[in-house]
Amino acid sequence: MAKSHSAGKSTVSAPSIHPRWTESVQYVKGVGPKRAESLNELGIETMADLLMHLPRRYLDRSDMVPIAKLVPEQHVTVVGKVGMTGMLRGRMSRFEVVISDGTGELTLLWFKGWRYLEKVLKKGALIAVSGQVRYYHGLQMTHPDFEVLEDWEAGNLTHTGRIVPVYPSGAEWSRAGLTPRSMRRLIKPLVTDPDSFTDYLPSSIRDAEELPSLPWTLTNAHYPNEISDAERARDRLAFDEFFFLELTLARRRLLIDKKDEGRACDSSGHLARQLVDGLPFTLTPAQKRVIKEITGDIRSTRPMRRLLQGDVGAGKTVVAAATMALWVESGAQTALMVPTEILAEQHLHTLTRLFEPCGIQPVLMTGSIKGAERRERLEMIANGTARVIIGTHALISEGTEFHDLGMVIIDEQHRFGVAERQRIVNKGTRPDLLVMTATPIPRTLALTLYGDLDVSVLNQKPPQKGTIRTVWRTEDARDKIYAYINDAAGRGELAYIVYPLVEVSEKSDLKAATTAFKELEQRFPNRNVGLVHGRVKPRDRQAVMNDFYAGNLHILVATTVIEVGVDAPAARLMVIENAERFGLSQLHQLRGRIGRGPGESICVLMIGHGPTPIARERVEAMCQTDDGFKIAEEDLRLRGPGEFLGTRQSGLPEFTIAHLVRDAHLVEPARQAAFHILETDPDLKHPDHKLLRSEWKRRYGQRQRLLQAG
Ligand code: ADP
Ligand code: MG
Repeated sequence: MAKSHSAGKSTVSAPSIHPRWTESVQYVKGVGPKRAESLNELGIETMADLLMHLPRRYLDRSDMVPIAKLVPEQHVTVVGKVGMTGMLRGRMSRFEVVISDGTGELTLLWFKGWRYLEKVLKKGALIAVSGQVRYYHGLQMTHPDFEVLEDWEAGNLTHTGRIVPVYPSGAEWSRAGLTPRSMRRLIKPLVTDPDSFTDYLPSSIRDAEELPSLPWTLTNAHYPNEISDAERARDRLAFDEFFFLELTLARRRLLIDKKDEGRACDSSGHLARQLVDGLPFTLTPAQKRVIKEITGDIRSTRPMRRLLQGDVGAGKTVVAAATMALWVESGAQTALMVPTEILAEQHLHTLTRLFEPCGIQPVLMTGSIKGAERRERLEMIANGTARVIIGTHALISEGTEFHDLGMVIIDEQHRFGVAERQRIVNKGTRPDLLVMTATPIPRTLALTLYGDLDVSVLNQKPPQKGTIRTVWRTEDARDKIYAYINDAAGRGELAYIVYPLVEVSEKSDLKAATTAFKELEQRFPNRNVGLVHGRVKPRDRQAVMNDFYAGNLHILVATTVIEVGVDAPAARLMVIENAERFGLSQLHQLRGRIGRGPGESICVLMIGHGPTPIARERVEAMCQTDDGFKIAEEDLRLRGPGEFLGTRQSGLPEFTIAHLVRDAHLVEPARQAAFHILETDPDLKHPDHKLLRSEWKRRYGQRQRLLQAG
């Protein structure tokens, strides 16, 4: 693959986006080695980077007004000749310049930067100035932006007299001497010659999406004639960002399909039917549809790479079990990998019941299974006696070998990274992969993060046994709430009291839960209070949970370890402390622990005094809806994608222009365009796709490994 041209050597023979597109910014006029270094530090290495560095906002300075028509407080641009200039020393030393345009006079004031101003603002110079007009002993402008007009003609202005770009200008920018003014000077000459650019997007895509051309886009992103043009240009570049990401995901998917000729499972399905017939309920239509979608994958040679999304309580476990049964019947193994031991134990419990009619005994494998027992289970997994295996990270550890892994299911997928996903897949010979998430992810985000997966959605919950009412309260209500818990315990209703466990301060939060536990024990002398958190030994934790399930404990103080997999139908109450510190989706998960029995359950969100408007808006959202997808959308909107996904999620690509919430509508078309183009030209070998390919490489080159990964 051709390297970028070295300076000066570019020839016409090789079409390029721009002869210097991928060259160091150093070769951009006005940069030089020193400034290039500063720009590099700020993430701008090439000319392309510089042009993709868009203005933060624009100033509309297109309103040019003769001095006689000026009205105080207006923001305007005035063109005039420099008359008198001079320093006025005193308490408020200043440099003053008077300009006139034949209709009147305007005084310009500067309280700093004199030396430079004295040099450039010479008597007789024609200048354009932009700023706010004030009236104080005559018309004035203080610290206007200005520009000396050497060969002035309208349209040739950079800092004044037009819509002017304002580039980001934090401390690190100004320290490097990269003021918005100097950025303008660097970028303007590049984009005023649109003919030097050739679009990397094929016209077929541009036409279909009604996108403007790259040359137009670059000019208008920086120097628009109308603000709406700038927006259109920005949209095009946001589309491009999504498009190249989706292209990468599409390519990855394509490679999986090509490289890994999967196995087609040819079992009769009688085991799965047996399992479903043994259920004490009938499947929801959504469950039936999703089982069908998954079965289709399992029966085909195309290896399954599917994401199953479903709200808490949507009934994903049954779906998982029924599809596992297909593989089990054919003699292969299936593994269910989950992030925590509590969840693993819970799933073992459920799957043991579900597989009972089939005569299959699921096997658990976690880090805390030790010694002879561990050896025995590893042996069962290695020799194929264990057919349904449930486990934590222990499943991907070195010591765990499978006999014949037909399918892998990962629950709570967002807790695992791509590498872990890959490691469990590598434990088998091209097994099917189903990843499940109970934290609904808005579709746009799902397509961005998991664009290489097919998506099934369980968009319907089984008929609810109970209902949940959610309210929020402040400290004042604490006594009343405790009194309620006490009464409820007398009626046999159990309560959770949840404390946040935020990763950054895990220790202090743990202390909060432990301290609260001691206080609550005193507060409820006639009730049994239990405590679980991540540091409680698995065996002790299971004992506490069993006590709670059995009703021997009335109140369970917990951290978010109970977020998933805990099922105590008698629990009718949940108090979540410092609710403002949880994400909405996490609150929703926690809340899903109640309402599992008949009747009304109550979830109380405790928030601090004087909640911020955002905190309030968030808890309000929780009180208003029980739809996990709506909550996820809201959460994404309020907190943005980074926070929404949390620190564990490392897979989120960084967009410099696109914004996952604001530009959500562009994701789907970008994805379609990307998948479509690879369908017709999988290696982008067609001559029309040459520039597309090189731009893709520029953007994702260092991540080429991604393209090889399964
Ligand atoms: P999640 O999608 O959160 O993992 P689960 O699989 O744990 O949900 O199911 C939640 C509860 O709903 C379980 O108690 C399960 O037995 C029950 N359930 C699942 N499917 C149905 C159904 N079709 N009808 C009634 N109850 C169901
Ligand atoms: Mg589940």
